[in-house]
Amino acid sequence: MTSPAPSPAAAVIVAAGRGTRAGGTIPKQWQSLAGRRVLDWTLAAFEGVPDISQMIVVLHPEDMPLADTLDSSFPMTCVAGGETRDASVRAALEVVSEECQIVLIHDAARPCVSAGLITNVIEATRTTGAAAPALAVTDALWTGADGFVTGMRERDGLFRAQTPQGFSRELIAAAHAQHTGGAADDVEVARAAGHAVSIVPGETRNLKITYEQDFARAATLLGQASMDIRTGNGYDVHRFGPGDAVVLCGVTIPHDRALQGHSDADVGMHAVTDAIYGALGDGDIGQHFPPADPQWKGAASEIFLKHAVELAASRGYAITHMDCTLVCEYPKIGPHHAAMKTKMAEHMGLQPDQVSVKATTSERLGFTGRGEGIASLATVTLVRV
Ligand code: MG
Repeated sequence: MTSPAPSPAAAVIVAAGRGTRAGGTIPKQWQSLAGRRVLDWTLAAFEGVPDISQMIVVLHPEDMPLADTLDSSFPMTCVAGGETRDASVRAALEVVSEECQIVLIHDAARPCVSAGLITNVIEATRTTGAAAPALAVTDALWTGADGFVTGMRERDGLFRAQTPQGFSRELIAAAHAQHTGGAADDVEVARAAGHAVSIVPGETRNLKITYEQDFARAATLLGQASMDIRTGNGYDVHRFGPGDAVVLCGVTIPHDRALQGHSDADVGMHAVTDAIYGALGDGDIGQHFPPADPQWKGAASEIFLKHAVELAASRGYAITHMDCTLVCEYPKIGPHHAAMKTKMAEHMGLQPDQVSVKATTSERLGFTGRGEGIASLATVTLVRV
């Protein structure tokens, strides 16, 4: 015999507050955090939990026009909140779907909540009818007045409450209906109605954004979960012309001809520079340094590479790896390979083991095989934490 599928859960995200203790001129749930708004991160945390079948967002009445801007692929029901937190939750409970036997109520200012914690609260609520996460207090507790410690308090048995707080739908609807208002959270409302609430181990990462410095902590926590790794490729060709040396990956090599180009024609460095622009999604070397512009005539290609490296840094990316291949029959690259690697590492601010410069012939085939020019390919990896 198979047991019936567990009932799905509804998530109520309370985002109607006007708190600006966190700084800024707009309420904290609408402020930007690691590239998205706080509320969008919170919604994303719940979207990833398979047991959630309905999401209700309580907005301040003045914020209702923002409902359409919520960054979520999950269908959202947005309701206007009331004067108090209790009134806001009651407005949301009215639209919870009949099929959802469990309701989770979560504070929008806790965007770092994990899918694991949400799932644990749902499981505990299925068992006990009411469950909420909390962390045991580990710091010593003092009383204080006028800037001085006036006493100690026993911390055993004390917990720091978190959300989401989970309840059977009927239990919490009835408890709110008879509540006279003024509760800090929904656990207080449930307990006032005589219901026991079980404690689920909370998470330190599930912080509540309250003060300005909390944004930096939350961004770090969310950033770890959204590391941005990019790969860019670059390709370049320069033809041979009259001359007595070529410049490849920053190293001048005596030769019976020179590479032609508007700058110093360092085909290797150009490919690497283009690979960085490619990873950034920001054009190519010709767009940043137009060949028609006389100021780049004969320019050292280091200028181009330096620009791309600084552009990556300014956007928060670290270059973690570069691999460049030169394609030519002559000059022979082998004797200069180590110097090229050192030069490129120096220009890019990398360690030697993060840099590769290698060469191949094309078996005398094609334009490189006939010695008409040199081609170069490059790959770079950029990481933003
Ligand atoms: Mg070029």
